[in-house]
Parts: sequence; C-alpha cells; structure tokens
Amino acid sequence: MLEIRNLHARIAEDGTEIIRGLNLTVKAGEVAAIMGPNGSGKSTLSYILSGREDYEVTEGDILYNGESILELDPAERAAKGIFLAFQYPVEIPGVATMQFLKVAMNEQRKARGEPELTTPEFMRRVKEASAELKIAPDMLKRPLNVGFSGGEKKRAEILQMALLEPKLCILDETDSGLDIDALKIVADGVNALKSPDRATIVITHYQRLLDYIVPDTVHVLYKGQIVKTGDKNLALELEAGGYADIIGQAA
Ligand code: ADP
Ligand code: MG
Ligand code: MG
Repeated sequence: MLEIRNLHARIAEDGTEIIRGLNLTVKAGEVAAIMGPNGSGKSTLSYILSGREDYEVTEGDILYNGESILELDPAERAAKGIFLAFQYPVEIPGVATMQFLKVAMNEQRKARGEPELTTPEFMRRVKEASAELKIAPDMLKRPLNVGFSGGEKKRAEILQMALLEPKLCILDETDSGLDIDALKIVADGVNALKSPDRATIVITHYQRLLDYIVPDTVHVLYKGQIVKTGDKNLALELEAGGYADIIGQAA
C-alpha cells in the first residue's frame, strides 16, 4: 500500500535536510510502528506523507497503491484515503465539532463520488462512533479542539479517523499526554478500525502504546533513516535497552 523509496526531504524555509534516505514498506492490513528518539524526524515524516508544504522532497519517491503521491496536495491525498492524526491537533475556533465533522465527511464522500449523507444517517454514525470513544455529546457542540484536554483532543482525532474511513491511517504520538484510561480508549478505537484493506502507521516514542495497539512490524527511525526493522519484540527490546544500543549499531 505504501512504499517509500530512498526519501530525502528538507525544511523548505532553510534547506535543512531532515529525512535522509528513508526506505519503508507498509502492506494493506498491516499495523506498522515507527519508533525513535526525539528529533529523529518522526513528525516530519508524517507531515511529508500528508503533503504539508513546509517540506521539500529532494530525492526518492512515495508510492501509494503503486502511484507516486509527491505531486498531490494535502486535500488530494486525503481524498485518496490518507489520514494523519496530529501530535498537536489544531484548534478550529468558531466551528462546532459536529459541523466540522459533517463538512469533512461530505467532502470525503464527494471526492469518492458518493452522495452526501442524510442528516439522520450522519447523526447515527457520529453517535455510534463517539459512544465507542466515550466522547460526550456536549463535546461535539464545542468548537473543535478549543479548550479540549489532551485526552479529548486525541479522542476527537480518532473520531474523525473513524468517520472518514481512511485507507492509510498515520497516528503521530497519539499516546503523548494520555493517562492509561484515555490510552486504552484511543487504542480500542484504533483497533476497531483494523481491516485487511487498511494500513496503520503508529508513531510513538514509547513502547507503552504498543501493548494496546500490537504492531505487525516495528521500525526504528534515527537521523532521518530507518535504521532497524523487526517485529513487536523489537519494541520490547527498545524498552529494555533504550535507544542507545540500536543507535550505537547504526552510527
Ligand atoms: P520527532 O517527531 O522524531 O521528535 P521531528 O520530525 O519533530 O522529530 O523533528 C526532526 C528535526 O527536524 C528536529 O531537529 C526539529 O527541530 C527539526 N524540524 C522539523 N521541522 C522543522 C521546521 N519546520 N523548522 C525547523 N526545524 C524543524
Ligand atoms: Mg518530538
Ligand atoms: Mg514528533
């Protein structure tokens, strides 16, 4: 589903190279974890996948279902089913969360050539998905992310993801700032979306989240490259030995 080949990318503003020859393959149905120390380029990689303009790809390619997506803007990538749940979700003042969800879902449907949802059908889906994520109806009346707690923001991200039914889900440190109960709720939400035609990339600094979202593959990102790949046991090794061992091997 996703094939990243020898990707090099830099910050557009000052030309600093952050991604330095990164290779990664993620298959449909797979849950891939990307782990790495702070500053290794995890968030940068997720922004580049989503098409953010602050970064320039200087070499290599990103293939999604066999086609390069480098020329597509963020909206076109979203329309193709790529969804990024942000490490720091953006606040959207002035628009009730409910209204935001409705517009986002109908945009997505339009892009797929599907008819708009009727209001009762929209309400039914939102109610069902928010109940699963233990999101109170009151929260949906408030502007998206404005004044939400850390846990509420992360749950709101997963709610958007559940409703938009993406094919490639990228979760950037969805665990940061969550207590264990919120973490379980978020993990359950992500696990409920698992399907043979959907892939998930879970980006995390800590192993803890991977107790709840069990990955098929684990990749270690360091200085803009994948320096080690393994199965879920690699995450446990990292937890036990820290990053120093693996980074030592890579350096
Ligand atoms: P991680 O998510 O693994 O902690 P990031 O992708 O956030 O790492 O950052 C990787 C490196 O790139 C860091 O040194 C960070 O300071 C730098 N960086 C990323 N984006 C920008 C930007 N837009 N402007 C300046 N520096 C950036
Ligand atoms: Mg960071
Ligand atoms: Mg980050």
